[in-house]
Amino acid sequence: MTVTVENDGTLAKAPEPPAEGSALPEQAPRRPSLSPSRAADFKTCPLLYRFRTIDRLPERKSLAMVRGTLVHSVLERLYDLPPAQRTVDGALELLEPAWTDLQAEPEVAELFATTQGEGAETDVNAPESVDAWLASAGKLVERYFTIEDPTRIEPAGREELVEVTLPDGLLLRGFVDRLDIAPSGALRVVDYKTGSMPREAFENKALFQMKFYALVLWRTRGVVAAQLKLIYLGDGDALTYSPDEEELLRFERTLLAIWSAIERAVSTGDFRPNKSRLCGWCDHQAVCPAFGGTPPPFPADAAAAAGWQTLPVVERD
Ligand code: SF4
Repeated sequence: MTVTVENDGTLAKAPEPPAEGSALPEQAPRRPSLSPSRAADFKTCPLLYRFRTIDRLPERKSLAMVRGTLVHSVLERLYDLPPAQRTVDGALELLEPAWTDLQAEPEVAELFATTQGEGAETDVNAPESVDAWLASAGKLVERYFTIEDPTRIEPAGREELVEVTLPDGLLLRGFVDRLDIAPSGALRVVDYKTGSMPREAFENKALFQMKFYALVLWRTRGVVAAQLKLIYLGDGDALTYSPDEEELLRFERTLLAIWSAIERAVSTGDFRPNKSRLCGWCDHQAVCPAFGGTPPPFPADAAAAAGWQTLPVVERD
């Protein structure tokens, strides 16, 4: 299965092609869904959500984002090896093939062509060299072994698509980095982060994505995950959390409220900018009113094609 990087650095998978000789599956009508990253976008800035999800404006990949994808790919492949071969050296040997695969993506090739070309020294993204950049990815892979012993883990799922349709029709979808199931049936949801563990005040924000997965798993399997585990490869730390049913019910209500707000914004075309320090990482300042820009007209056709039912009236020339 092909793994691609979404705008925000999270991973998404392209659908598998149909098996040779098999009939093409009937195209299910597209309909909007909510993922942890898109929900977080809307909470951060409704206009950013619109630009990413409805306008689908292009965004530049960063070297940090590509390094994250590379490290995720190595840790996914690590569990293809027999347990005894899941060593630091075994993992570092996986860097090269994973990097070769990533370079086949035109956006990645373009990013590295820029950073290696003239003007690389003035590009804030530019590493000292690709070798240094690869070595920094290797350090993150090495650090993984200070947090977990992969010879003792047999994942039940890796880069696993989890999705559920809630009773009111909201489709929740996301990809879990790793899912472990103990012989007792207890579930553990694991996510790898290439940064450092957030301060306590930001832990809830970090856990938003994990509670999202826990809710989907609870709704699909009837089991509340015993542990949500965020592994921070930047500093070799881990954040663990055990949700309960009450909390997941509250979280479900939060997601429904976010979804209602998104639907309202689509029906009115009113996606407000929310200026914050995160604007520094936003690729869309040129078309953002908070920075003196003008957004493009609301792409009603694209929104309708994506399955949005209630569309705003858009004036046309
Ligand atoms: S620049 Fe800031 S306010 Fe404007 S769309 Fe991006 S995140 Fe939102």
